[in-house]
Amino acid sequence: MTEWSEFWDEELETMPGDKLEKLEGEKLREMIAWAYERTALYRRKFDQAGIRPADIRTREDLSKLPLTTYLEDFCHTPIPDKLAVPLEEVKIVSSTSGTVSGFTQPVLMTAGGWDEYVDLEARGRWTLGVRPDDVVQILSGFVCCERGHEQLGAMTLQAHSGRRNLDQQIKLGEVMGVTVLEHLPSMVLRYFERAKEMGIDIRKSQLRLVSGVGEGWAETYKKGIEAEYGIPFRTFYGSMEALGAGECEYGGGMHILGGGSLYEVIDIETQEVLPPGEEGELVVTPFHNRATPLIRYRTGDIASIGPHETCPCGRTHPKMSMVRGRVSQIIRMAGKKILPMDVEEVVAGIPEAGDEYQIIIDAPGELASLKLRLEPKPGVKESTLISRGEEAFNRELGVRCEIEVVPPGAIERALFKAQRVIKTFS
Ligand SMILES: [Zn+2]
Repeated sequence: MTEWSEFWDEELETMPGDKLEKLEGEKLREMIAWAYERTALYRRKFDQAGIRPADIRTREDLSKLPLTTYLEDFCHTPIPDKLAVPLEEVKIVSSTSGTVSGFTQPVLMTAGGWDEYVDLEARGRWTLGVRPDDVVQILSGFVCCERGHEQLGAMTLQAHSGRRNLDQQIKLGEVMGVTVLEHLPSMVLRYFERAKEMGIDIRKSQLRLVSGVGEGWAETYKKGIEAEYGIPFRTFYGSMEALGAGECEYGGGMHILGGGSLYEVIDIETQEVLPPGEEGELVVTPFHNRATPLIRYRTGDIASIGPHETCPCGRTHPKMSMVRGRVSQIIRMAGKKILPMDVEEVVAGIPEAGDEYQIIIDAPGELASLKLRLEPKPGVKESTLISRGEEAFNRELGVRCEIEVVPPGAIERALFKAQRVIKTFS
């Protein structure tokens, strides 16, 4: 067996904190000047704020710069106003998922920018533990993910293999001796359950690692998978706009892919930058994207970022917590802010509840109680699930909840990202 290095880019990944900050500071200044000089969008935003690129010298100065919002700045700005290169230099057009605007938005990249992006995808997977002798089945459907594994040197079973049919994909995985499965976390469970129904024992297969992408997942579910199948589950975070972070074998969050983007956490109400460890909205300035630069882009994702410290894996890059939900999904109750991931952790811990659930938001503003739709596990009585559920929410989150029990299978299974928060008003 080949002994692989622990790192994709050892010098960068083990760089002392001060050196990394210096490197990121240089890239940041370059990107700010690039955006200001070449795009109408950033010239206007900086001028309105009375800031010149030369005013930004350190990371601390970054907070003087205006934030870039998804809807107004990213979606509503015409392409010519945000494009920093001649259109013919744009070689890759991808898109955002459209969860916020209801319509996907194009993400434009130059060939060089795409290469850097794919390299970050590879570095993230290496952090997760994927190596060139792995056979990787990628079912998330993201082409960028496939490219990352290819760049890393692994054998990849691509999304179209298996003709998008789960049974075929599982058979194909078995025949090819897949060692790494990459999927949306909510779909991994279905893959495993279906394999069981098909008489395939995942524990006896070659599979040794699950890479979760595209959405968060309750730690309780992850631990359940790890215990039942004996396979580590690690998470990769990123978006088409910026990458990202990956969980190493020591867990405790995901290492930010330092040098690739600069992440900050801001207070949702005041927009002030928060110190390490405090939870808020992730804001990112990616360094690869020279076609349509993004400076302090509000991701809408809620997480915290820890301090610079060396992990037992040897990496020095700070760890980001798992994403615990989106700003638009904050549930306000009894003076508290509750995140979808808080709800998922409680649901995952109710033995009588199935794995599918929905949070129903039927009015704006503060809610009197948390409305949930749950499916019972086989043989569980409706009244038992209701009382256990109410008790669990009261104990874990200190909130009152109303549970609607629906028959097993009644909650629509998502084909892509699971839709857990349902708003019934507009
Ligand atoms: Zn680590």
